Amino acid sequence: MDFDLTTEQQDVANLCREFAEGEIAPHAQEWDAKAEFPLATVRKMGELGLLGLPFPEKYGGAGADTVSYALAVMEIGRADASVGITMAAHVSLGSQPFFSFGSEEQKQKFLVPLARGERLWAFGLTEPQAGSDAGATKTTAQLRDGRWVVNGTKCFITNAGTQMTGGVTITAVTGAGNGRAEISNVIVSQDTPGYTQAPPYKKMGWRASDTRELHFDNAEVPAENLLGERGRGFKQFLDILDGGRISVGALSVGLAQACYDAASKYARERFQFGQAIAKFQAVQFQLVDMAVEVELARNAVLKAAWLKDQGRDFATAAAMAKLFSGEVSRRCANAAVQIHGGYGFMDEYAVSRYWRDCKINEIGEGTNEVQRMVIARQLGL
Ligand SMILES: Cc1cc2nc3c(=O)[nH]c(=O)nc-3n(C[C@H](O)[C@H](O)[C@H](O)COP(=O)(O)OP(=O)(O)OC[C@H]3O[C@@H](n4cnc5c(N)ncnc54)[C@H](O)[C@@H]3O)c2cc1C
Repeated sequence: MDFDLTTEQQDVANLCREFAEGEIAPHAQEWDAKAEFPLATVRKMGELGLLGLPFPEKYGGAGADTVSYALAVMEIGRADASVGITMAAHVSLGSQPFFSFGSEEQKQKFLVPLARGERLWAFGLTEPQAGSDAGATKTTAQLRDGRWVVNGTKCFITNAGTQMTGGVTITAVTGAGNGRAEISNVIVSQDTPGYTQAPPYKKMGWRASDTRELHFDNAEVPAENLLGERGRGFKQFLDILDGGRISVGALSVGLAQACYDAASKYARERFQFGQAIAKFQAVQFQLVDMAVEVELARNAVLKAAWLKDQGRDFATAAAMAKLFSGEVSRRCANAAVQIHGGYGFMDEYAVSRYWRDCKINEIGEGTNEVQRMVIARQLGL
């Protein structure tokens, strides 16, 4: 076994840390307070190649491996979970389906500008009545006169309405086969008549990320906008979610690390009873537990990423890593606020934002309960 990062992996991590500390962290509190999507910063990330990290250079990407991508999401998410999820949702949910299932023509047309960071793309699976039970999709796409006519509503969709969004790939019922709904993935460009995005939700956390409800009212797209084989949409999105779990796991590790960093610094600076609170064993134990869990969560995420890079089955490892890291981020955020005492409850301290940002890690890309269901199935239970 070799736990050392390669030079390329370390370079990506260093680049992202430098960018995150210089261009993201100083603004994170303000973007959060104003619920402002940091368009200029996301564009810069595109110019640096961060929005196309794991895709081959011939498709506009940086040709990095999944381990590098996970390290990048950890570093960006450590500075700002909102920017982290913007990147992760664009790469793992928006762009990956084109790479995994797109025709060569679709890759050239859609993936290249996404990997170059010129556009963002969204993935619309969730609906008001189809969340964890994502196969219960009600949105329909009917083939009429050589065009897909889309009707329905998607909710909670990330990156769907920014000024640099190019469109969304949605799951839709395209027919019925063997008594079950036939689900396919359909590409809908932003300028499609009949496709509209509601204003951004007001959210507890990830406030600087773009999340919207989407409406399709006889929205027509060309027949060639089917992504992958007709009727394979269910299997395709399960594959996409497996990869997405690595990135949400990485995001959780980044946030948990930020919690440890802030709490450890504060505990050394805050004096009570004549000494730094870091000298009290009760505070030390909280910091130790945080450090242990962050380390184990990081290893779990990197192992899942490494398995994916080896072309090996990574589904169980990704679900375990996502479940564990999400819970670790919540425990670390809670401890970080506790160590800050009353100041932790005040918005001028970053831990207050971390506490609000961590909760979604246990909900998005499959709730904790769904991860446990997935893992139980994989364990043959
Ligand atoms: C900020 C944000 C961004 C998001 N971005 C996207 C996106 O880009 N694209 C996208 O498609 N979706 C996105 N989502 C949706 C997200 O994936 C769903 O919210 C999530 O999958 C849960 O679905 P739900 O909210 O409908 O909850 P529900 O499925 O209604 O679950 C409610 C509760 O019931 C539990 N539950 C449900 N079924 C079971 C069961 N069988 N056994 C035990 N417990 C169960 C759940 O675990 C949960 O605790 C986003 C959500 C948020 C909040």
